[in-house]
Amino acid sequence: MKKVALIWHPEFQNHDTGKGHPERPERLAALHRHLDESGLGQDLTTIEPFVVDEDWLHRGHAAAHVTNVRKRCEQGATYMEDYETMLCPASYDIARRAVGATFAGADAIASGDVDFAFCAVRPPGHHAEFDRAMGFCLFNSVAIAARYIQETHDLERVVIIDWDVHHGNGTQHILETDPSIFYFSIHQFPHYPGTGAADERGLGEGLGATLNVPVPAGTGDDVYRDAFDQTLIPAMETFRPEFVIVSAGFDAHVRDPLSMTRVSDEGFARMTEQVLTIANDHANGRLLSVLEGGYDLEGLSSGVETHLKALLDA
Ligand SMILES: [Zn+2]
Repeated sequence: MKKVALIWHPEFQNHDTGKGHPERPERLAALHRHLDESGLGQDLTTIEPFVVDEDWLHRGHAAAHVTNVRKRCEQGATYMEDYETMLCPASYDIARRAVGATFAGADAIASGDVDFAFCAVRPPGHHAEFDRAMGFCLFNSVAIAARYIQETHDLERVVIIDWDVHHGNGTQHILETDPSIFYFSIHQFPHYPGTGAADERGLGEGLGATLNVPVPAGTGDDVYRDAFDQTLIPAMETFRPEFVIVSAGFDAHVRDPLSMTRVSDEGFARMTEQVLTIANDHANGRLLSVLEGGYDLEGLSSGVETHLKALLDA
């Protein structure tokens, strides 16, 4: 059995998004209950993450955005300017700890303490743009993690594989001129946030290091499997990543209320096997996954379970 870290902190459940919001504390409560009841939690190595310094946030965001989030939290604001990314006074520190989870996972993997790591974090990050919060996301944890890995662990090429049902507009835009960080996304299209067409391939020196696979409502496991086999895996033969990050949303699940794709638990297991193949072929097995969306409590829990089992059995 492989050694897999579950990186989380009780504080992640204190990010209060208000009544009726889909990105709610119960998501992680349900996941932890499921890991306990299934016994799977016993097979995982728990790591509690630290809060990163504000400087690290500037690797992915304008200083004005970071300051804005901090000040709004200090002032007791309950939402960001997009009116859908909610806040409570503790959210600034909690979001910095979510970034810290990705750092802790990268450190544990790079040092060989664990084989793989899954960060069970809130708030999610992949919609957060360089200069603003968006789509329930305050800071773009995976984009910042990619730069942390390059700077701290002396690895040049990082791929972010985003299978959340929504396009990771923030991740793409923050990194799209950077040829050293490849961004792949498969997502329902057309759908929120509206970006992620197939002709968005990166900009300037980063041209070719962005790869979008938009799929229509109703898409199921087979199309996802084929997209990974026929599009992502060949692209990685050329890019040769040294570290693999998965933006692991579970809202493409057939049960999810925020999408109309039909990925099953088995589908998430198969995608996990495919990203493991990429990690093993190119990155010495280094693979970190980070929770993004997933809004049906049962679908989220069972999807994460099959993802973790595939990592343990790798
Ligand atoms: Zn999503």
